[in-house]
Amino acid sequence: MLVFSGHSQDITLQGDPIWLGGYPIASTELAPFTDALLKTVALRERRNVFFANTNFVVQCRPLRQALQDPSVTIVNDGIGLDLAAMLIHRKRFAANLNGTDLIPSLCERSVRPLRFFLLGAKPGVAAAAAAKLEGSYGQDVVGICDGYGQMRSEGDDLVRSINRAQPDVLLVALGNPVQERWILEHSAQLQVPLAFGVGALFDFLSGNARRAPAWVQHMHMEWAFRLLHEPRRLLKRYSVDLLTFFGVCLRNRQQGAAPQRAG
Ligand code: UDP
Repeated sequence: MLVFSGHSQDITLQGDPIWLGGYPIASTELAPFTDALLKTVALRERRNVFFANTNFVVQCRPLRQALQDPSVTIVNDGIGLDLAAMLIHRKRFAANLNGTDLIPSLCERSVRPLRFFLLGAKPGVAAAAAAKLEGSYGQDVVGICDGYGQMRSEGDDLVRSINRAQPDVLLVALGNPVQERWILEHSAQLQVPLAFGVGALFDFLSGNARRAPAWVQHMHMEWAFRLLHEPRRLLKRYSVDLLTFFGVCLRNRQQGAAPQRAG
């Protein structure tokens, strides 16, 4: 467990993890977690943060070993994880944490504007998300690279470009498991305190995709809202993949006390 002292009370970045599907998932709440992340920025330490929804659990299986590194924090995102935690461990997560809530919270709780680098999404989408981060949240965006042609043409120079821009926070929006793999593979070279895998965050921030109304979020039905809007892309994710998700969680249900590997 990684604990920072110096706060009025110690704040952990790993919580007392709940193991699901072979991943240690921190059970923590938005405000203390956000403050612990801001402390990481202040200390110029390195941390990679991932949001585990059912798609993450299914898609990131080849990365499970690397995702157990102490520099990684995984938090729970969505009702699927809650159901699995109840089913397998009879436990509840302290809160539901997703990038769409956490990144605004990071901006709001920081005492100074943070320096963001945005990597991923379609050309124009990251730029529109950057405008939102600067205009509505008062942050500094020090670099942008779309997740298609620009990323390909940057090639090996991309990490150098990111480091040169000296961001506090790198947001990587390439979808699962590409964003997780990219962050883990480049973690040692990145000189950025915080790197997040943020999925569709830039689409939401830019207004390119609409988020479910608050009442739908409160009913834990955001997944259904997304399914209604993108049925062709998401139908498999919310049917076959969901069965795979529960299968992976059940097969790995003994995991926790001592890390083991299973399918
Ligand atoms: N994306 C990208 N490059 C790619 C594939 C995807 O930049 O080669 C972007 C995509 O445009 C989107 C983000 O990755 O903005 C997240 O993708 P997805 O919608 O699959 O995320 P999720 O549904 O997992 O949140």
